[in-house]
Amino acid sequence: MNVFVAGMDAECNEHVTKIIQLNDIHMLYGDECAEALNIRQEFESAGIRVIGSLYARIGPTGMIAREAFETISSEILRTLKEHLSEIDGIYLKLHGASGIDGLEEVSGEHVLIKRIRHLVGRYMPIAVAQDPHGNITPEFGESVNIVRCYRQSPHTDSVETCRIVARKLADLMKCRRPMKPIVLKMPMLLGGEQSMSAEEPMLTINRMLDETEKNPRVFSVCFYIGYLSHDDDKLGSAVVIVPNQPEDEDFCRNEAMRLAEAIWNLRDQFGFKGNFAPPEEAVIRTLREGIRTSVITDLGDNCGAGAMGQQTELLRYMLQHWQDGKKVLFAGIRDIRAHAMLSRLPEGTDVTFDLGADENEWSRPVHIEGTIIRKGDEFKGYGNETYMGRKVGEVSTVRVRGTLIDIMVLDTNLQYGHPFEFAKAGLDFHEYDIVVVKMGYLDTFLIPETKYHCMAITDGPTSQEPSKFDFKRIYRPIWPLDDVRKLRLIE
Ligand SMILES: [Zn+2]
Repeated sequence: MNVFVAGMDAECNEHVTKIIQLNDIHMLYGDECAEALNIRQEFESAGIRVIGSLYARIGPTGMIAREAFETISSEILRTLKEHLSEIDGIYLKLHGASGIDGLEEVSGEHVLIKRIRHLVGRYMPIAVAQDPHGNITPEFGESVNIVRCYRQSPHTDSVETCRIVARKLADLMKCRRPMKPIVLKMPMLLGGEQSMSAEEPMLTINRMLDETEKNPRVFSVCFYIGYLSHDDDKLGSAVVIVPNQPEDEDFCRNEAMRLAEAIWNLRDQFGFKGNFAPPEEAVIRTLREGIRTSVITDLGDNCGAGAMGQQTELLRYMLQHWQDGKKVLFAGIRDIRAHAMLSRLPEGTDVTFDLGADENEWSRPVHIEGTIIRKGDEFKGYGNETYMGRKVGEVSTVRVRGTLIDIMVLDTNLQYGHPFEFAKAGLDFHEYDIVVVKMGYLDTFLIPETKYHCMAITDGPTSQEPSKFDFKRIYRPIWPLDDVRKLRLIE
């Protein structure tokens, strides 16, 4: 037996100015694709040979150019056609939150899955592993046989989820039966930063999902938080259940409805948790706490969710409220012009410049007088086994004169989320009292390093406040934009 595998990972924020072109995309073909999807072992131990197609890794970013998407789509379809006579099933890793500039359907996944199903006919088993921050619809469910997303945010279970889906597909390929997911689409618009799995109500929701999935009549069950940073008619949360046998369908539909009602009744518990505050207050509060090492995250400019990392609002407040003796690091601020100017000068040079891309009110320039105190590498990745990472450029760190405020000036939207990345820039994370990073919730690797964290609820492309955006295409009424009391599923 043979399984065809492919993938596309993209989370596309339409409020980010950058449009992704083909050369921005990390394309892995054939064996490299099969390897990077982390599922080879699952199939091979079931005696199934893996045929790798293309894994397009894009990550969280702006919208994708139509031409780039069509190149990805046609490469997957071309290789699928080439191997059609020898394959027994299809495994796909599709994030679920892609947005294509100039595509009527907006979502790349929804178009791609229809094209794949059309090519292979009605009965070829297709399984899809997804991110809970993707948008799924009943129509998407019509094109696939198995679909399941991760439970945990941050996504500590992403690899394990892909392997679960692969094992389930191997089961279906070996023991063929009609199988179709039931997708209950809920009128809820949730922000990823308001639905962390270490907090309620996700703790309760994940417990209910685990409990439900223990029943042998349930092949798989999951909850989609959804994605809200581009306008599309597919936005919203969902409960997805896959019955094990055709005769389990009624039972599973009832189970899915029971879960959807329970989640709906917990909806008021979604929200920011821990310490969070408006931007100026976040700066004042963290300075007052005075615990080393404290972290302030810049929610509206979250590079981990695709923002450009060039907002200067927190820097302005820090310059205004800074207290003598406090060592502060901004990691970092993206400004291509300032970066180019600094990169030509050696360490120790006194500099005067305006810092800020000045693309909108959030990236208004701040006048800086200071000294280049360090040169180092811009490095993307953690240097560990799962993600070796790579050097993507050089960074100059400038100390503002008369203060202990250091600013890493970048030419790319890097998120600093691991002490290793700071070390590559020539800096020690723990040498600072306060580190400001372009992040929303605190990422996995920074959690154990951080003694105090405050999320600054800044405006910007990665704001989690649905009312800040002008949606035209979404289902209405939808909670929390509208006053919806009773759960009525989206048809
Ligand atoms: Zn996600």
